[in-house]
Amino acid sequence: MLVKTVLNNCQKYKSFVFGKVKFITHNGSKTIEIEIHPRKNSKGICSGCHNPAPLYDKLKHRLFEHIPIWGFKVFFKYRMRRVECEDCGVTVEEVPWAEGKRELTKTYMHYLASWAKSLSWKEVAVKFHTSWEKVFHSVEYIINWGLNYHPQRRWLFKSLLNFILMMSISTGGYRFQNLIFIAYFPILFL
Ligand SMILES: [Zn+2]
Repeated sequence: MLVKTVLNNCQKYKSFVFGKVKFITHNGSKTIEIEIHPRKNSKGICSGCHNPAPLYDKLKHRLFEHIPIWGFKVFFKYRMRRVECEDCGVTVEEVPWAEGKRELTKTYMHYLASWAKSLSWKEVAVKFHTSWEKVFHSVEYIINWGLNYHPQRRWLFKSLLNFILMMSISTGGYRFQNLIFIAYFPILFL
């Protein structure tokens, strides 16, 4: 079965299609690269107002790290487009698999954050050959994502996140951060 077939079954994006899948060497290791292309005649989405807008130009290729398979790192390769929005001016388009300048896909951040519930962030980083910071940013992303539904609690959780981050660094990053999940869920559902 092709990698593309697997992706089309679990990771479909309405206005984009998966292209070539190949092995490349990235930072000295064999890595799987999957191209993504916009569907023909599809408009870009303005990242400012989230509305469709006419295309302006294309930027350089960007790599987005996705969930590894069979021990290989996986990257989506996509050439971001800029759109000319009537309200926001020229902006970089919004894509469904990533957010802003983050290097990991949303799915991968969800995946890392789910592992961070039972392992320390350091252990998750070692397990997936990534950095402690990327695990931290994944947890932060998931929390912000959850707090979109509870904006009034954002300040409270941000303070807690900073406190736990500080304590994690001073205690060598071991398991202290798991408190975040213990604290997180009651705040969300109170
Ligand atoms: Zn706009």
